[in-house]
Amino acid sequence: MRRRMVLGNWKMNGTRAEAGAWSRAAAELAANLPSVDVGVIPAFVFLADVQRDAGATPLWLGAQNVAGYDNGAFTGEISASMLAEFGVRAVLVGHSERRHVLGESDATVATKFERAQAAGLTPVLCLGETLAERDAGTTEVVVLRQLDAVIERCGVASLGTAVLAYEPVWAIGTGRTATPEQAQAVHACIRSAIANRDAMLASLVRILYGGSVKGSNAAELFAQADVDGGLIGGASLVPNDFAAICRAANQDG
Ligand code: PEP
Repeated sequence: MRRRMVLGNWKMNGTRAEAGAWSRAAAELAANLPSVDVGVIPAFVFLADVQRDAGATPLWLGAQNVAGYDNGAFTGEISASMLAEFGVRAVLVGHSERRHVLGESDATVATKFERAQAAGLTPVLCLGETLAERDAGTTEVVVLRQLDAVIERCGVASLGTAVLAYEPVWAIGTGRTATPEQAQAVHACIRSAIANRDAMLASLVRILYGGSVKGSNAAELFAQADVDGGLIGGASLVPNDFAAICRAANQDG
């Protein structure tokens, strides 16, 4: 049985006071929901506050980005070893905003994944197609190409210490959620592509769904056989909404 996980991606949002309220609420959830891993992914400047607020709770601390290089002359970048030393546990790689707004290629994403794992972080590898790609019937081709770029660079075994997140680009921040059937179909395709290389690993790897998850649709998404939780953007900024999603993941978990 895969343990469910719900991660809140705060993106570039929040004042320090707001971040404090969000993190304290999330820490309480992490402490009180026994069958789900709860985590938050704040902007870098809030990491220390979140870490303090999390205290001894099992709240996962995540970062939104990591450099694709080791330490050195890369002004403005933050290395995987810095994040690891700080106590960060997970890091997003390949989020659609970094792929499509900030121009990161599959190869860049694979390099960041590699650096994160080398430092002992858990990469949360985001995969997803644009609306045009879905309409063209290439969803699976795109998602598997993104996955293969990482497998080719790091090997399939690397997925054993990673988390995957299927995030259709057309569903992120749009209010338009994939139906449970759409999500399940892509999650099953990802899991079966991994199973072709390593069946045991495929049965263990967690695949989260992200894209306009709300308290009202979380339970039916998480009820799908291959959906192991959620990567939550907008709703993670509203403590009551994030709590409803985490509770939905905790049920029958
Ligand atoms: C995200 O940022 O990864 C995301 C899924 O955002 P939202 O939940 O707002 O669609």
